Amino acid sequence: MNEQAFEVLVNGNREIYANLYEYPNECPHCHKHIIPKYKSDYLSGEQYTIYITLICPNTKCDKPFIAQYGRENHNNYYYEKIVRYSVITKTFSSEIIEISPQFQKIYNEAFFAEQNNLFEICGVAYRKSLEFLLKDYLIKLFPEKKELIIKNSIMNCISSHVDDTRLKTTSKRAIWLGNDHTHYEKKWNDKNLSDLKTLIKLTVNWIESDVLTKKFNDSMQ
Ligand SMILES: [Zn+2]
Repeated sequence: MNEQAFEVLVNGNREIYANLYEYPNECPHCHKHIIPKYKSDYLSGEQYTIYITLICPNTKCDKPFIAQYGRENHNNYYYEKIVRYSVITKTFSSEIIEISPQFQKIYNEAFFAEQNNLFEICGVAYRKSLEFLLKDYLIKLFPEKKELIIKNSIMNCISSHVDDTRLKTTSKRAIWLGNDHTHYEKKWNDKNLSDLKTLIKLTVNWIESDVLTKKFNDSMQ
């Protein structure tokens, strides 16, 4: 282990010094072997973690990144990891999760892909999440037709089993746009990912409204 310590002024406080052991030796952007340039530091409130902004010395890269150091003892801090940003996950209502736990799981994988700029695949995943939601919902409504619903195309399922015109309208269009993300040829050139997400949101809303309406209807006769 490289025992060289880096003495760093923390939070502009001239009385606190920290010995930082080791710099990360690979740039998270260009993945070249590097000795990074120190830029600035931040001691977190609890004083057990220091975050250091480092710069890649590779002139073609020249990008900053943040390294995390944990306190071992006294003023000694050891390199732990490069800080990665967390992604947001979406939590749906209990009515939706009860119908299809898989929907929330797949939707959030799509959302993760979107937040990581994987735009070529997130639409496909959003479409898949929608298919799970609709099929699980229809299986709940028509348990005797489970096998048929599983085997049939989602479009056929919507056509033959969805009566509510609002749900029919939004879910069909969501599938049309979702298919655009799956197939080689795009049909809806003026529509984008945001339109697909809006249609999924509307489909979720109609299903929620339907389930809640039935719940109140059953409990207040
Ligand atoms: Zn680099």
